[in-house]
Amino acid sequence: MYAIYDQGDFGEEFQDDVSNEAQAFVMILVPYLSPEGIDRMIPSFKAAIKRNVRICVFAKKPIGWENRHSLRGSDAEKFKRLEHLTNTLRSTGVHVTLRDYVHMKLAVIDGRILWHGSLNILSFNPNMSTEEMTRTENVFEAIAAIGRQKLDRCQECIALKNHNLPDANIIDGGKTLGRIIEHRRMTLGMTLEELADKSGVAKRTIMRIEDGDDHDAKLSTLFQLLNALDSRMSVLPDFAVPFVKQFLETAPDMQSLQRAIRASG
Ligand SMILES: [Zn+2]
Repeated sequence: MYAIYDQGDFGEEFQDDVSNEAQAFVMILVPYLSPEGIDRMIPSFKAAIKRNVRICVFAKKPIGWENRHSLRGSDAEKFKRLEHLTNTLRSTGVHVTLRDYVHMKLAVIDGRILWHGSLNILSFNPNMSTEEMTRTENVFEAIAAIGRQKLDRCQECIALKNHNLPDANIIDGGKTLGRIIEHRRMTLGMTLEELADKSGVAKRTIMRIEDGDDHDAKLSTLFQLLNALDSRMSVLPDFAVPFVKQFLETAPDMQSLQRAIRASG
């Protein structure tokens, strides 16, 4: 499914995607930033960030950027303007990574929606250019674009991940996996005995896995359990982890389940 937009109708559609459609992350790759382009997007960025959506912007690092503080004259002014724009974005909560040699213009939303084409998403002029942007809803194309353009290498996301390492990793020594299995079992209204019977896995083993104490659970054991729970395992790229974790923690049935567990224990 795809649709083509021009400089006249792109802005509104893209702002709507960021403000309302994005659930987890928006990654934007652009060569340039302009004050007008950023002003246009800031309300949508704010709306998304309020909903815990991460916004990662990648823009071109001008040649000589590292030495900008020792420059004078028009180059110094140019760098100062860019620095001011990146600070404006950061103060809104947007991540900014400057990198060499950017020419592509694209955006990926939730690894599901891909925008790409000729239009500079954060600096286009809606009245003065003839541009085209294609919006594609296709998981494979969106994920492939993240890989090709290395959009999962946001410097600020990486810093955050290193900062909260135990938390940011959904496996975290099996704790989260155990909780998910327990959650699923309880959602199905199964007791430990019933799951042991149905899966052929010993009750003691299930308890250790649910408690996150079994760091060496065999894959075949996990598959037996998941089968008995009508569930599957899937592999997530790092960038999707915070979203899934948030989903698991805020899903309404998870909250009532946690309350029930606390009340019973
Ligand atoms: Zn980021």
